[in-house]
Amino acid sequence: MPYDDQNIFAKILRGEIPCDKVYEDDYVLAFNDIGPKAPVHILVIPKGAYVSIEDFGAHASAEEIQGFFAAVAKITSEHGLSENGYRSIANTGDHGGQEVAHFHLHILGGAPIGPMVA
Ligand code: AMP
Repeated sequence: MPYDDQNIFAKILRGEIPCDKVYEDDYVLAFNDIGPKAPVHILVIPKGAYVSIEDFGAHASAEEIQGFFAAVAKITSEHGLSENGYRSIANTGDHGGQEVAHFHLHILGGAPIGPMVA
């Protein structure tokens, strides 16, 4: 699937739509999910134009990938999630229920969130 630069996260990255930002660096923007499914529900998105985790893994540079996951570690630590844990999810494509076609990692935590369901 080609990247559509009119997706909502592309608009957030360009500053055309506001977000509730929690972290930003050269590689990522992270913001609170507008419809939280846990006490902490943060979305981490790369600044590059990647449709999915698969596209990111296949086409992002090593620097972008390292930068992305280093930022995830910073964000989870800064939000006090490291000790008790959290769930990270990257919905992918139709069967994965992906709604926004710009790769994003959901980080859910702040309370026990139960077993994973398909
Ligand atoms: P997914 O189904 O994995 O594509 O998840 C997309 C997520 O983006 C959902 O959890 C939405 O609640 C969230 N979302 C959509 N629009 C916004 C927005 N403007 N700001 C923050 N989160 C959003």
